Amino acid sequence: MEVANTYLRPVLPALFIESLQGIKGFEQTAFEAIHLSGEQVVSIRINPAKKVERTTNEPVAWCKDAYYLPKRPSFTLDPLFHAGGYYVQEASSMFLWEVLRQTVGDNTSGLKVLDLCAAPGGKSTLLASYFADGLVVSNEVIKARASILVENITKWGSANVVVTNSDPSHFSLLVNYFDVIVIDAPCSGSGLFRKDNDAITEWSENNVRLCSQRQERILMDILPCLKQGGKLVYSTCSYSREEDEDVLDRVMESEELWSLPLKLADNWGIVETESEHKGAYGYRFYPYLTKGEGFFIAAFSKKDGGMEGFYSETKLMAISKIEQETIKSFLPLDGSYSYFKQGDSIKIIAEEWFSSLQALAKLLYIKKAGIEVGTIKGKDVIPHHELAMSHLNLSGFTALELDEQQALQYLRRQDLFIESTLGWNLVKHCGLPLGWAKVLPNRMNNYYPQAWRILKD
Ligand code: SAM
Repeated sequence: MEVANTYLRPVLPALFIESLQGIKGFEQTAFEAIHLSGEQVVSIRINPAKKVERTTNEPVAWCKDAYYLPKRPSFTLDPLFHAGGYYVQEASSMFLWEVLRQTVGDNTSGLKVLDLCAAPGGKSTLLASYFADGLVVSNEVIKARASILVENITKWGSANVVVTNSDPSHFSLLVNYFDVIVIDAPCSGSGLFRKDNDAITEWSENNVRLCSQRQERILMDILPCLKQGGKLVYSTCSYSREEDEDVLDRVMESEELWSLPLKLADNWGIVETESEHKGAYGYRFYPYLTKGEGFFIAAFSKKDGGMEGFYSETKLMAISKIEQETIKSFLPLDGSYSYFKQGDSIKIIAEEWFSSLQALAKLLYIKKAGIEVGTIKGKDVIPHHELAMSHLNLSGFTALELDEQQALQYLRRQDLFIESTLGWNLVKHCGLPLGWAKVLPNRMNNYYPQAWRILKD
């Protein structure tokens, strides 16, 4: 386990410690000791569609393809990180995988899933893998954070994700629409105190109260969008009862939900609690009991879905026959996809989800949908970075395998002087695509996205 520099670590607020007394699993001495120790737990979740070599590190017990690392490497200087080979995710929050396994199960085909508070994308990338044959709507209300979400979803490469940038209230007409809704709510952040000194200094009782009110509002606004029998997962990275069990109590007052108990292995160290008034089950993660940061999660099933909604659609721009022929000869695809256009850009999404995308486009601001293939310029197609990152079969393109130093040069958007076949090359490292380069007779043009280039030396 890594030990961070604890120099100048702020003291945990006395009012915060006082507010946790009596909560099941809270032990003040152990809690303070682990926050003083400076221990850091580092974990990653491997992208199952990108097949990075399996590590021999200790697995995270409650999540598929997830591992602890003995210390924090420089992720920025690892080309496979930029290739979307894995996501750096806090281990406790990966428990979402186990919650889905126990409450939704394996039959995920055709399910519509909403991740309402999604940036930077940890839960959404997990959902994209879990519901690989479903549709994941990944929403973030704050514009700047929605861009980071797009970047992470693009790198993950799933074609089944639609990223939206909308207020939760804009979903209100999608009544009885989603099979699964995940609310990883904005919170006071005490669960991250061990990692984030700012979270300690910014903590206040007043903020806990405001967060709690906002959490309840978000949940109540989105509840009509869940189908009958649909699953709702609520989580926070706060230890405060006001943001955890008390919020469960208030949503249970709607009489619309069943609280779902989960099975826990003893050695996970996760603590089951029940809310004071309605007895709703919640699951607490304390860093002195569980190998991860502070976290809280609860799952519900919806009793009644209400009236079936009618969803009007916005017609997305179709592409012409000629454009379709050009794109299909550039990128022959296995499977059934719908093609559509936004501006000059040609995109694809599984045929099965095209109508849903048009319904979402009627109400929400769509930041990214399916996979952007590229733009047509005369007879040429300029491929988009999303295509390079996707899980689509790109074996028809010339592959240009780079060693680590060359890959970092490429990711810094520097010039490369390597001989290769003329035309579009799919630049790779360890077999994983990093992006596009166009090889000309006298030079190579680097098409790595300017905004995502590595700036660090
Ligand atoms: N689920 C993310 C992940 O796993 O990477 C982390 C989500 S973070 C805990 C909560 C998110 O909720 C933030 O990105 C924040 O911008 C967003 N948020 C803030 N206010 C919100 C609101 N009123 N409604 C919905 N989301 C909100």
